[in-house]
Amino acid sequence: MPEGDSVYRVAARLHEELAGRVLTAADLRVPAHATADLTGRRVLEVAPRGKHLLTRLDGGLTLHTHLRMDGRWAVYRPGERWSGGPAWQIRAVLGTEHSTAVGYRLPVVELLRSAEEERVVGHLGPDLLGPDWDAGEAVRRLLAQPGRPLAEALLDQRNLAGIGNVYANELCFLAGVTPWTPVGELPRPERLVERSQQILDANRLRPGHVTTGDTRPGRRHWVYGRAGRPCARCGTVVRTATQGTPPQERVAFWCPHCQRGPAPGTRTATRPGPGGAGRRPGR
Ligand SMILES: [Zn+2]
Repeated sequence: MPEGDSVYRVAARLHEELAGRVLTAADLRVPAHATADLTGRRVLEVAPRGKHLLTRLDGGLTLHTHLRMDGRWAVYRPGERWSGGPAWQIRAVLGTEHSTAVGYRLPVVELLRSAEEERVVGHLGPDLLGPDWDAGEAVRRLLAQPGRPLAEALLDQRNLAGIGNVYANELCFLAGVTPWTPVGELPRPERLVERSQQILDANRLRPGHVTTGDTRPGRRHWVYGRAGRPCARCGTVVRTATQGTPPQERVAFWCPHCQRGPAPGTRTATRPGPGGAGRRPGR
């Protein structure tokens, strides 16, 4: 699942290439819209909304796409070879005289009236990178189901929009609690929400989803992707387990020393990790 900052960068790139230009080629290779003819329409803008991409065209139309697990938009110059995958994986083509944007493996390709965008993105919570960001509303939505595991609540785009599995795990670490901690037991939920926004904002123009402040490969995350390796703060071996139920399950990472709270295989929910009598990550 992509993180909101990745989608933000894709939108910025597509916007730079397409906005203000007239489509000279357009091809939506999905059954519902295979006959739609978008050529001659001007692209007004490409806007991210959480993890959704909204390509707005003149005449009141919006192309809604979503990358999900491995969808991708690539941009090619005239004459350049399309290299994003085999032709049968192409779901959308938007070409101008300047360049061509090709959408590969997009699980969502939907053409709708711009006035009806709420139908596809109206369920989303405050957008961490959006102009409508509202920290108070995000906190309110998160706490509406206080018994929910924190990582799951952070990943629910109806609470706040833009967090994927990397940030969900890292934010649990930064809060000093395990991904299974009930969201209602979070010591300072408003602080975590604020930090979520700061981290995505800091990463919106660079790849790597850096949460440690260190952009070097292998040092970007505290616990995410570090199963069996040392926690980047205390050196304790990072643990991993599956969280959630199919088809929503994903891998959780946590440091049993830096993070308190329930976790698979631990008998007492609040027992501190080895040598760590409740020590919490600072800042
Ligand atoms: Zn640690």
